[in-house]
Amino acid sequence: MLRGHPWVYANEVRELLAPEWDGRAVECRDAQGRILGSGIYNGRSQIVWRGFSTGKEDFGREYLSQALERACRRREGRKVGRLVWSESDGIPGLIVDRYGPVLVAQFLTLAVDRQGEMVLDWLQEALQPVCILLRNDAPSREKEGLAREVRVGRGVLPEAFWLELGGLEFYYEADSGQKTGLYLDQCEQHGRVARFAEGRDVLDVFCNQGGFALHCAKAGARTVTGIDSSAEAIGRAQKNAERNGLSIHWICENAFDFMKRQKPESRDLIILDPPPFAKARDRVQEAMKGYKELNLRAILQLRPGGVLATYSCSHAIGYERYREMLADAAADAGRRLRLLEICHQSADHPVWLNMPESEYLRGYVLEVL
Ligand code: SAH
Repeated sequence: MLRGHPWVYANEVRELLAPEWDGRAVECRDAQGRILGSGIYNGRSQIVWRGFSTGKEDFGREYLSQALERACRRREGRKVGRLVWSESDGIPGLIVDRYGPVLVAQFLTLAVDRQGEMVLDWLQEALQPVCILLRNDAPSREKEGLAREVRVGRGVLPEAFWLELGGLEFYYEADSGQKTGLYLDQCEQHGRVARFAEGRDVLDVFCNQGGFALHCAKAGARTVTGIDSSAEAIGRAQKNAERNGLSIHWICENAFDFMKRQKPESRDLIILDPPPFAKARDRVQEAMKGYKELNLRAILQLRPGGVLATYSCSHAIGYERYREMLADAAADAGRRLRLLEICHQSADHPVWLNMPESEYLRGYVLEVL
């Protein structure tokens, strides 16, 4: 394990604690007796200890309100985006996303769940949202011994509304959609990639609700096609395009099938933003095959001088590995790739250097010659 990593697994400790310690802060020492810091303990989870401080600290009101305050101050002025991101903000298991007047929170560890009311009180008082929705339906809650549920934590849930983001309006319904509603981690990329779209034929693969496609259409693309296998996502993408007065061709299909049918050299800008193919290290090899197939097909479909924006959100696959795969795909295609930009998750998902899992979204923007 990397030194300074905040997790300790059940098989790494000499002895587990009594169940009454589940969900509470405990100090952890290494084999030499050196104090690693304070962390939240849960003997029911594989990860029994998640460090949140290198000092001696209780996981109570005082610590949490300070950590929440720091997290919110870091993102001050942003109306849409991630406000609190788990370990990276010193609160393992708490995610809070802001969608204008609505906050969507996830309590993913027992300790955070136990402090839930306190967290809700703090958020309500400091930010005065009309509603705080708890999207506690993530499967990882079960690993902590917690039930899965979606419920209103504070206020009243508004009907679906239009959310302004990056100069476009997005249909937003807090209690449905993937994740907490939108892929906030890609928001900075939407506008950046759209700089390459003017006058071009654009294909947005794994488009979800159309973030890339909409920005490209707005930037003056000649044609834009968006594809995703989720009918719900495509339905919303359609609504978004209509609302913003943009003309986009939406397709609901498996991306692998779709990519097989496309003509060579038929587009100028292709975005590939798939779900994580490797959620764990032992899936990396298999995942690389999927990434390579998609990227190879995309490279072949681009006209010379076209642009490929390609992403991976598998934290176990680093920049180097992804880059080797791209070089390999380019060689197979008989094309050359010139690096334009190296990309990263949005800044409101800060990376903690001692925790490689916190750096998970990587991408390359390439010119295909
Ligand atoms: N590009 C989006 C985020 C994409 S997330 C944005 O910037 O907002 C990944 C998307 O891939 C999800 O919308 C999911 O529905 C879709 N997806 C998952 N498997 C797929 C498949 N086999 N074919 C097409 N879409 C798929």
